[in-house]
Amino acid sequence: MTARSVAVVGGGAVGLTAAYDLACRDADVTLYERDDLGAGSTSRAAGIAYDAYAEDVDVALAERAIERFRSFSGERDFRFARTPYLWFATEGGAAAGAIREQVERMRHHDRDVELVDAEAIRRRFPVLRADDVVVAGLARTAGTVDPAGYVDLLAAKARDAGADVRTHTTASVALDPPRVNGAAYDAVVVAAGAWTGDVLADAGVSVPVEPYRVQAAVAGGPAIPILYDATREYYARPHAQGIIAGDGVTTPVDPDDYDGEADDAFRDRIVERLRERVVNANVPIERSWAGVCARTPDNDPLLGEVADGLYVGAGWNGHGLMRAPAAGERLAEDVLGERDGVGAFDPTRF
Ligand SMILES: Cc1cc2nc3c(=O)[nH]c(=O)nc-3n(C[C@H](O)[C@H](O)[C@H](O)COP(=O)(O)OP(=O)(O)OC[C@H]3O[C@@H](n4cnc5c(N)ncnc54)[C@H](O)[C@@H]3O)c2cc1C
Repeated sequence: MTARSVAVVGGGAVGLTAAYDLACRDADVTLYERDDLGAGSTSRAAGIAYDAYAEDVDVALAERAIERFRSFSGERDFRFARTPYLWFATEGGAAAGAIREQVERMRHHDRDVELVDAEAIRRRFPVLRADDVVVAGLARTAGTVDPAGYVDLLAAKARDAGADVRTHTTASVALDPPRVNGAAYDAVVVAAGAWTGDVLADAGVSVPVEPYRVQAAVAGGPAIPILYDATREYYARPHAQGIIAGDGVTTPVDPDDYDGEADDAFRDRIVERLRERVVNANVPIERSWAGVCARTPDNDPLLGEVADGLYVGAGWNGHGLMRAPAAGERLAEDVLGERDGVGAFDPTRF
């Protein structure tokens, strides 16, 4: 059988994984990244990964992603550091109700999660203040990764498998037949993160992907589990230099023109949140930054064929790194006709 020629647009976690998986299946792969590899959202991610999802389609992707993170762990400098994920509400009402319902549905999907109360949190994680916790879920299949390490590893694996990975090469996509910068391919995969809407618009394809800005910071602090406070909407994870934390304040932006520095109000919020939550917290902010994510109207990603020979993987709503190992693989399987796309994530659904 002749190898299929496939172009991948975007050298972030999703595009690099797709390039690797396509090349492993003997496709003739060219990846186009307009900047350095990982220069988009991936290098700015906090690196949290878990399989604690309630919907079956999300569970399938997340489970496979964690399985692959684990199998890649130890190759080159990449590590998946297994760490429990604790998410909690400090008030009754919608957030607390959602956690109870999520845990029940996750358990229905055989996720290793349980409901825990304040006393159990204090016993298990003495480093956390838990008096105000009304309800919490604890997921054990979770961990942290270094996004740059994932990029380096997948780029090396893609190249070893035969992919032509081109950096500082902007791709312009056209259709009939699928083309990049004038060269025809059997298929083109667009995994251009927050820029996906622009890249597809060039090809005359419209998708509802909204780019938005979010912020993160590295603070000093002790070893904590991965946290998400569903009432105050912030997260934190352990890190070699302490803690990485960020919050749910999002602002729609132009991904080519946004402030990549975090602002003082954000840093103050993070210090306050960590001081409230972490016992004896000494949490000076050591560095902070902003990055872009992208979401769709239903908050589910676009994953699959969007026009003849044109595939897309985008709109991860802040959860793209943790799903990249599975999303790239699914794109490769879909392009090569080994497996159908994920119905709920059909990019033509809007
Ligand atoms: C502060 C912050 C914290 C986050 N924390 C987490 C987390 O803990 N866990 C998690 O799962 N996710 C997290 N995310 C989200 C995660 O970063 C993204 O979902 C993920 O990196 C998306 O990967 P991607 O490959 O789709 O996109 P990107 O990494 O953005 O890659 C797309 C690439 O396409 C390139 N590109 C664009 N246009 C073109 C063109 N015309 N030609 C060629 N190349 C082009 C860009 O330069 C870019 O490198 C976080 C994001 C931010 C900003």
